[in-house]
Amino acid sequence: MVRRPLIAGNWKMNGLKADAVALAKGIAGRCLPQPPPVDLLVCPPAILIDPVAQALAGSPVAVGGQDCHTQSSGAHTGDIAAAMLRDLGASHVILGHSERRTDHGETDALVREKAVAAHQAGLVAIICIGETEAERDAGQALAVVGKQFEGSLPPGATAENTVIAYEPVWAIGTGRTPTLAEVAEVHGAIRALAGKQLGAAAQRLRILYGGSMKPSNARELLALADVDGGLIGGASLKVEDFMAIALSSNG
Ligand code: PEP
Repeated sequence: MVRRPLIAGNWKMNGLKADAVALAKGIAGRCLPQPPPVDLLVCPPAILIDPVAQALAGSPVAVGGQDCHTQSSGAHTGDIAAAMLRDLGASHVILGHSERRTDHGETDALVREKAVAAHQAGLVAIICIGETEAERDAGQALAVVGKQFEGSLPPGATAENTVIAYEPVWAIGTGRTPTLAEVAEVHGAIRALAGKQLGAAAQRLRILYGGSMKPSNARELLALADVDGGLIGGASLKVEDFMAIALSSNG
């Protein structure tokens, strides 16, 4: 298999330290004696990366952040630099999640700058893109996603330092998902666009699906040719659901 699936949990702003450590230990415990045939990643709130990384030490589960600043240090009250995430043990960072694009007005240009900062710090950037419901209804899904992809992908992106997450905004946290044909169409279009930027390496780029992925729909979504894993919100907060999704992948 050219692309090893990545199953990533986005814990968002949920859990206190004890909850996060228990969840991490639960996931690590389910990787024994045999981990699922996928890469596993959990992205807790930044302030919990340290205890989660400690809880996962020795397990195959990686840790990531949910955002980083464009600068490596300086007068940016409340912000977190990519190198700080790395210092605590993170290997990945989610960038441009639709909740950040909406809540914090993040643009493609800003996401691209953050991705540059992530790469400089040695983090894999998971760049999120996806259309709103109104955009899909207007037949604009492919155009919107294509524009976001081209605007957010940083110079220097490779299949190794970058992951794309296609997350239709209207599917996040709603229990609704696009049809399999719709997901396949968007993922195929992203791979084709990636080919223009990365050449043959686009075949190694991982493109995740995110938006109400759960144990009951994971198998069919993960079986699609250009779906290389999932970015999972709600279902990543339960050990059983997260691991059931991971085990739904053929690896
Ligand atoms: C997300 O926020 O990245 C996400 C996919 O959430 P959910 O799985 O809850 O839809």
